[in-house]
Order: sequence, then C-alpha cells, then structure tokens
Amino acid sequence: MKLLKTRALVLGSRPLGERDRLLRLFSWEKGKLSAVAPGARKIKSKLAAGVDYFTCASFLLHAGKSLYTVTQLEIEHTFRNISLNIEDYTYGMYFCELLDKLVEEGEPHASVFNLLLDCWRGLDGNGADREILARYYELRLLSMLGYRPHFKDCLYCGDSRGPFFWSAGSGGVFCERCRPQEGAVFLISNGTHALAARLLNLSSTAKILNLRATEAQKKELGHFTRHFLMQWTGTGPFKGLSFLEKLNTGEKDKKTDNASE
Ligand SMILES: [Zn+2]
Repeated sequence: MKLLKTRALVLGSRPLGERDRLLRLFSWEKGKLSAVAPGARKIKSKLAAGVDYFTCASFLLHAGKSLYTVTQLEIEHTFRNISLNIEDYTYGMYFCELLDKLVEEGEPHASVFNLLLDCWRGLDGNGADREILARYYELRLLSMLGYRPHFKDCLYCGDSRGPFFWSAGSGGVFCERCRPQEGAVFLISNGTHALAARLLNLSSTAKILNLRATEAQKKELGHFTRHFLMQWTGTGPFKGLSFLEKLNTGEKDKKTDNASE
C-alpha cells in the first residue's frame, strides 16, 4: 500500500456523490493533487472538519491509480474568519484559483506554499488593505514561478529616475527615451511604480500594514497585474476579480452617496 504523509493546503472541496468530498490540495511533498475524502459529507465523519477551504492540515493519503484517498488528517489551522465576509472569501477563493491555474500538477513548491499560507493569514485578520494584499500575492507568486516583472530601472539604459513605461512584450519598464514605439506600452505613475517595486521585495503580509496607497494607485496596479497575468501566463479573466471590482465600485459609490447627502 502506497502511503503519503504530507502537510497540505485545501484549495478546493466539492461534494462527490452522497457521502464523499473531492479535494484539491496543494501539498508540501507532491504539489497539487486531487484526493477523495470518503464519508466527509457525513457530519459525524472524522474527516469532515478538515475538508473546508482555507485549511492547512497534515494528511495521510493512500495513492490509488488516478486519485489519492484521505485516510487520516490532523488540522494545523483553519482560517475561519476568511469565510465570514464576502469580500475576504472572494479574495481567498481567487488566491486558490490563481495558484491552481499557474502551478503545474505534481510540482512541489515550498515558497509558493508558504506564500499562500501567509496570505490566508493576512486575510484572516491582520487588517491589511485587501487590494494591496491581492497585488502582493499576484506579484510574489509570478516572481516565484519565474515571471518576475522588471521594475528596478530602464531595461535598456538602466536609468532609475522615471517616469517609466511598461512594455508588456518585454516584461519590464523603459524610460521615456528608450520606450519601444510599437506594441502595448503604457505609462506607470511614479507612485504605482514604487508600490509595485516594494511589494515585489516584501517578505511577509505583516509588512503590508505599513504600506499606504491612493485609490488611483491601487486601480492602476490592479490594471497592470491583470494585464501582466493575461500576457505572460495566458490566464484570466478571473470571475472572482470582476466580482470584487463590482463590489469595490459599489462600496465606493455608496460612500460617495452618503457623503453627498
Ligand atoms: Zn532608458
């Protein structure tokens, strides 16, 4: 009997028949994998508590021909607060979806594992600005998977003063003199450029608490990362992101309405 003992993050969990659940796990040992949790839909099942989203647990898995089966699990932590708020929940689901799309099946990645765990922790309650947290997750994830955008200085001449122009085809920025005349090129404001460069070099979500950004900078950075994800990884559009955009716009309209009454 082939057994695998591994820490894993629950990326997805859906009903399978009347009794079981099918889990998408991101495991420390084997990367992304699917596993059946037998009987987990039954309230009295020992596995029921460990199959929720945003859970980190230690799993004992039995390797079958095409799927793993969960035989035991011990919960390390469930980030319950994330599911209490629709905005946090949607961000949390988006983080899982992005990882599921970008990371290859069966490829372990310790730094990506720690990044997702830390971002769940951030969403669960450290009070960080959610939009900045999401941009941090995207930029760090892209970097770890080999798609790090070049923000430091002009790709051609090394000028570090700005203003900078982002070139989608080159994956980096150029100064005004060197900017390509063809292809998708757009100006990044100095504030947004500095914010992106800082996020790329942060080591944990705890540090996001010290960052400030204007609504315009957050919007610009969101536009940039969406564009970058599409261009370099071919992923998107993401349902969660457009929902959050509507949610954010709605919230801001409401605040403006209240302010003008
Ligand atoms: Zn230049």
